[in-house]
Amino acid sequence: MKITVIGTGYVGLVTGTCLAEMGNHVMCLDVDEKKIRILEEGGIPIHEPGLLEMVTRNRAAGRLQFTTDVIKAVNHGTLQFIGVGTPPDEDGSADLQYVLAAARNVGKHMTDYKVVINKSTVPVGTGDKVRAAVAEELKKRGSDVEFAVVSNPEFLKEGAAVEDFMRPDRIVVGGDDERAILLMRALYSPFIRNHDRLLVMDIKSAEFTKYAANSMLATRISFMNELALLSEKVGADIELVRKGIGSDPRIGYHFLYAGAGYGGSCFPKDVKALVKTASQNGVELQVLQAVEAANERQKHVLVDKVVARFGEDLTGRTFAIWGLAFKPNTDDMREAPSRVIIGELVRRGAKLRAYDPVAMPEAQRVMSDVKNLTFVDGQAQALEGADALVVITEWKEFKSPDFDLIKSSLKQPVVIDGRNLYDPQLMSTLGIEYTGIGRSAKP
Ligand code: NAD
Repeated sequence: MKITVIGTGYVGLVTGTCLAEMGNHVMCLDVDEKKIRILEEGGIPIHEPGLLEMVTRNRAAGRLQFTTDVIKAVNHGTLQFIGVGTPPDEDGSADLQYVLAAARNVGKHMTDYKVVINKSTVPVGTGDKVRAAVAEELKKRGSDVEFAVVSNPEFLKEGAAVEDFMRPDRIVVGGDDERAILLMRALYSPFIRNHDRLLVMDIKSAEFTKYAANSMLATRISFMNELALLSEKVGADIELVRKGIGSDPRIGYHFLYAGAGYGGSCFPKDVKALVKTASQNGVELQVLQAVEAANERQKHVLVDKVVARFGEDLTGRTFAIWGLAFKPNTDDMREAPSRVIIGELVRRGAKLRAYDPVAMPEAQRVMSDVKNLTFVDGQAQALEGADALVVITEWKEFKSPDFDLIKSSLKQPVVIDGRNLYDPQLMSTLGIEYTGIGRSAKP
């Protein structure tokens, strides 16, 4: 099939590349000339495991092209995927300007039947707005070319995006145009050969499903973070509690980790947007409001621990920071808890030596104005002469570190762990003063 993907970010680039991998001819469009230049020169503008190899292979096979030329891109595909950003507006609702601009471009330039597919995360009712935007442009030109609108929210996880796209848990398709649904089934059948995991529903339910999924996941995290706060007060260990409840299949182990708060480009904005949609419809989503408030508080928990140990005034103190990305295996710094934590520590006078395996260029870009923050080349360099180690992201390489080096490099062996990577008992045996999240149990 011939496919156009509008927006070549985390979702668009992975979607376009994985569809090309199955033999489709894909053209990816972006307004960002720099991104397209990097792609045309054989690189990729983001870090995503396995993506570069797949892009390279499909470009070489002539199935994957990149362009900034809107007319060429719209003419290319029968299927027009919209995968542009939907950042939060000032009031928390999703800003649809990029989605609607993309839809208008399709309407402006299409000359034959198109299926306009919304892959961006968009509020319930956006399908109607997209349809109206395309129709308005066609009307301006006096054209009566047919088109269909479909909702196909994306559930991939950054850091495992290629794997998720190639082996999806489910594919949600919202729409009522039979021809369009048939095309969507044909497109996705190679990805779900063994299990028919394509769920067809109406557009609004499909749009809602994406927000419901992210809100549920965010709820689990905030729930555990709140229990962790209580755990510390009552002398329990949230890690043991997690295992104790996760073994119940009704609960399960996924997304039950207490930590330094959730971040990224999706959970914070999607929770806010669903709360906003609800209030616009006269419904108060009390649970989700609490989920968001709990997360805001959680981003300060590590700072509170540093202050509890070293005092409110951190002038003259240096801290090693391990991990900047909002989660491992990505360079995404959007809404990363590290940004709040670093800002708060520096505001109190601390100097920071930070290391992240892949997110440092992006971190340098988004925190270029932060004073007293030095980016260093490795875990060991971050530790040199620091007063304590603060772990913010659970990269694999931080999970079994050289504890002797930690002890010998730090001024005093203090580890403040925002991801509960280490065993408190082992740390105590090693003579390391250790604080995790929600772990005050005495063995
Ligand atoms: P992104 O910011 O990485 O990429 C968006 C891209 O769209 C940018 O490169 C931008 O230049 C481009 N763009 C904007 N307007 C355009 C236009 N008119 N024409 C062509 N290109 C245009 O965003 P993302 O993380 O890929 O997210 C995209 C959407 O997918 C969002 O709605 C997001 O909520 C949703 N989503 C994201 C993820 C994720 O993990 N990142 C997962 C599922 C869903």
